[in-house]
Amino acid sequence: MKKRLVRCFVGFGMTGGRSNIEVFYVVPEMYAKALYTCLECGEVFVVDLENPAFAGREIAEVVKGTRCPSCNADLNETISCYPQTFRAPDGSLGSFDPGTMIPPDNESLVREFFEIVPS
Ligand SMILES: [Zn+2]
Repeated sequence: MKKRLVRCFVGFGMTGGRSNIEVFYVVPEMYAKALYTCLECGEVFVVDLENPAFAGREIAEVVKGTRCPSCNADLNETISCYPQTFRAPDGSLGSFDPGTMIPPDNESLVREFFEIVPS
């Protein structure tokens, strides 16, 4: 699985015990990207929403037969919308709601994520 540079924003998610866990989110209206995560290990993935191969398909179906490059889990079972749900570095599950506000572009940064490409 290859990595791809993604323009995104930083948010701060919450778990049961902490409220300042750095997460990333994209604004699909601006960049036509969506982020997913492997709930087993916390690895983050990007999909290109402009790829017609995603149209009308559930992400779990798209990743069928694909293994997480970080923990080798079956992504079909561990994939989840990110950062709505995420695996924090301490292993607990957290959540973050990006909301509908679009932050100023100068607050964006570029991160590298594994890209899920439909077969
Ligand atoms: Zn994983």
